[in-house]
Amino acid sequence: MNKKLIDVLEQLIAIPTVSDMSNLELIDFIENFIDGLGGEIHRVYNEQKDKANLVCYFGPDEEGGLILSGHTDTVPAEKDKWIHSPFKLSSGKDDRGRNVYFGRGVADMKTFLAQVLVVVKNFDLSRLKKPLVLVFTYDEEVGCIGIRTALEYMKNLDRKRPAHALIGEPTNFEVLVAHKGHSQMKVRIKGVKGHSSRVDEGVNAIAWGGRVMSLINNLQEKHRKNIRHEDTFTGYPFNTINIGTINGGKSINIIPDECSIEIGYRTLPGDDTDFIFKEIKNEIDSKLLDDIKKENPSADIVCELHEQVPPMFTEDGSEFEKNLREITGENKRLAAHYTTEAGFICQNKINCLISGPGSIMNAHKADEYISEDDVIKGIDIINKLVSRMCT
Ligand SMILES: [Zn+2]
Repeated sequence: MNKKLIDVLEQLIAIPTVSDMSNLELIDFIENFIDGLGGEIHRVYNEQKDKANLVCYFGPDEEGGLILSGHTDTVPAEKDKWIHSPFKLSSGKDDRGRNVYFGRGVADMKTFLAQVLVVVKNFDLSRLKKPLVLVFTYDEEVGCIGIRTALEYMKNLDRKRPAHALIGEPTNFEVLVAHKGHSQMKVRIKGVKGHSSRVDEGVNAIAWGGRVMSLINNLQEKHRKNIRHEDTFTGYPFNTINIGTINGGKSINIIPDECSIEIGYRTLPGDDTDFIFKEIKNEIDSKLLDDIKKENPSADIVCELHEQVPPMFTEDGSEFEKNLREITGENKRLAAHYTTEAGFICQNKINCLISGPGSIMNAHKADEYISEDDVIKGIDIINKLVSRMCT
């Protein structure tokens, strides 16, 4: 089976699926690979029809069951920074002398996809008493886009909702039970332009931006004291806010009439993803808006809420978690420091766990690699999990 697995992984790596490219060749390959196994295969296209999710149901339409979920896209590979070829699987050693495989996506997350495919191909699918569902998505790396259309599509099928989902992001098979939500917002300050010699005739948008940032810093300090989920979110068990970019100003002698500040914030499970947006907007509206309008009625401060990825949280003690912990031997209830598609999946009342081969430390880097041990280990883990959850 290991030889077969390496063959499949080789193919998956050889088809580049950087998020700005089509993933249809990869979807074709996967569809061909599972063709004839008796699964009900669905393709869920994006609007431009150049990318697709693959959703495939095996087994009867019963309560319970398991989703095995992974994204097909990868981050780009800057070839000049790689020693190895990013789109040709190669083997070698890491700095600890372990056997490893190199290639863009080996950790994040094509090895998991290959493992799932090989397990499914070799599994006696007639044993399934509960559904086994593959959900392979597009555009995860650029904001978890594909999973949203996949879930919407699955909701409209005349099928029972699967109860559990394993998201095979690289965790070295540690079992992650949570992550924060991540939202993006922008504050636009509209000032009034003027010559810098006549300071009272303009409204300096950047200076007002400074006041906005000061409010945000105060909010961060408030949140720092509101500690929750301390055992799971070790290090930062509170909501965090990051002022990510600031733009404004054209010249040293012109009073700037525009300033925009982009903010990303991460919220603990239990808080709505628009919660901090509302807080920041409230603070600005109540503390700054009247004053800027007094300087000039045409001045303004506007808050916009952009992307929101929901948090993920799985209650302690589920059968699914117990099974996965027994199989992997991993007993700590940990949180991911990043967001995943699990945020969207668990919003649909599907019990999620994140666990997969490879290390997140190697993902998104030049010469991305995965240990041979993790490549082989996954087959057994997925096999056992499917047996326990679906037969
Ligand atoms: Zn990933």
